[in-house]
Amino acid sequence: MDARETIKKAEKLIEKSQLGDDDKHFMIVALYFHGHVCPAMPAAFRAGRVALRKLGIERERDSVSKVYVETGHHQAAGCFADGVQVATGCTFGKDNIFKTNYGKWAFTLVDEKNRAVRVTVKPEVMEGNFSSAFIEERKKGILPSKVNPEFALKVFEATLARKEEDFFKVSEIFNYPIEEKKVESCFYAVRCQACGELVAENYIRYKRGKLLCIPCSGYDS
Ligand SMILES: [Zn+2]
Ligand SMILES: [Zn+2]
Repeated sequence: MDARETIKKAEKLIEKSQLGDDDKHFMIVALYFHGHVCPAMPAAFRAGRVALRKLGIERERDSVSKVYVETGHHQAAGCFADGVQVATGCTFGKDNIFKTNYGKWAFTLVDEKNRAVRVTVKPEVMEGNFSSAFIEERKKGILPSKVNPEFALKVFEATLARKEEDFFKVSEIFNYPIEEKKVESCFYAVRCQACGELVAENYIRYKRGKLLCIPCSGYDS
């Protein structure tokens, strides 16, 4: 079975799961966006939907709500952050998801009134994933898309079937003040006078009479 076939099978599992129609739709989006079948992405997807429901808000279409996701670098199951993005609509492109790099499978969703909810995967669930055949293969250096499809689909299916209350620890709603001044988006761009590439005006550097992009300027940022 190649990776595409495995994804198709996972899609079928989503369709026949107990999830609501909107959850099913976006979970399939998440599956294709993510690109392989694993346990962390779908766990995070479900967690993201729990957070939206807890706050009583819709999936973010703009950049009003924000997510602080606690995964880090070189961390197993960092795939978690992809599930959170698709579920909540807070994405890298909209610049409203931020990594705290705590190395945890958790996140906080904050709405426009600074109402927040933090969701974590219960430790026993993550520990179960870590002792799965899927992770055993990953530890041997096998890429996620190359793991035995049977192992991948097994953990994926378990993630769909698990009851929310057995899956997540969900905080009460709390206040999460975001100290932030409103900065308007920059709709203007300038060509770098060294490389000729287009740069958002607010990222242009001025060096010895020239307007330069950051890499051409030699400055760090
Ligand atoms: Zn993954
Ligand atoms: Zn340049």
